[in-house]
Amino acid sequence: DGLITIQDFVRWGASRFNAAGLFFGHGTDNAIDEAAQLVLSGLHLEPGLPTGFYDCRLTPAERVLVCDLIERRVVERVPAAYLTGRAWFAGLEFSVNPHVLVPRSPIAELVEAGFDPWIDSERVGRVLDLCTGSGCIGIAAATYLPDADVDLVDISPEALEVARRNVERSGVGERIRVLESDLFAALTGSQYDVIVSNPPYVSRLEFAGLPAEYHNEPELGLLGGEDGLDLVIRILSDAARYLTEGGILIVEVGNSAPALQQRLPEVPFTWLEFERGGEGVFLLLREQLV
Ligand code: GLN
Repeated sequence: DGLITIQDFVRWGASRFNAAGLFFGHGTDNAIDEAAQLVLSGLHLEPGLPTGFYDCRLTPAERVLVCDLIERRVVERVPAAYLTGRAWFAGLEFSVNPHVLVPRSPIAELVEAGFDPWIDSERVGRVLDLCTGSGCIGIAAATYLPDADVDLVDISPEALEVARRNVERSGVGERIRVLESDLFAALTGSQYDVIVSNPPYVSRLEFAGLPAEYHNEPELGLLGGEDGLDLVIRILSDAARYLTEGGILIVEVGNSAPALQQRLPEVPFTWLEFERGGEGVFLLLREQLV
């Protein structure tokens, strides 16, 4: 009632989102962007609609579709990316579904910089993305490093299906391999200049307290065992063997840095902290790992 144009529905959706106290952080950080994504997706319109078109009116059938998307976001707390099937990472678009985390990671900034200044991007020949999920980090690496061959690894066949779809549409698929593997298990003998990973690192306690949106994501991609560090520790313990000389390991660990330093006191981490939400990334050079 009183809702007529695209603009009306975007404003209405955003005010419902704010009133419901939704969590924004799965691909967007605000209610208006999320509402616009859902409304446009319900109308089968591309994001980035020219401003003038926001005055177009919706048909009754379109109103039903759009209201349904807004309701699912509010009531079921489904992240918008799952409702639209798309997400953006490092300036690139990715297909997503609930078998993969919604792409987000401070590692995006490192990838876009070609891992400069941590390694000379000219000498990056091989990259490994562990726990790749949608493939976003590794595919972005292949895109920003035009000479690199990239392996995408995940333990979940359902996630790898999504990753394969993203590889196909990436335009750089001829330099990417997709492998089902429990971390390094299927990679014997391979060596990489960059190993990068956003593994599951949330503890059971933290997991229970996360906003409802996270509980619509795959637990496999978030939970890292009791204290969250299971996968991170395994990666840190094995990585040295898979790095070339001068190679680097980049692992997102959120705010588990202090806990990690306690469990692995002998490893001298290079700790990069990012503004957004206190997420953090560890960066290790091969020499630090051996
Ligand atoms: N807190 C992290 C996030 O929202 C969890 C991701 C992870 O476990 N890798 O991105």
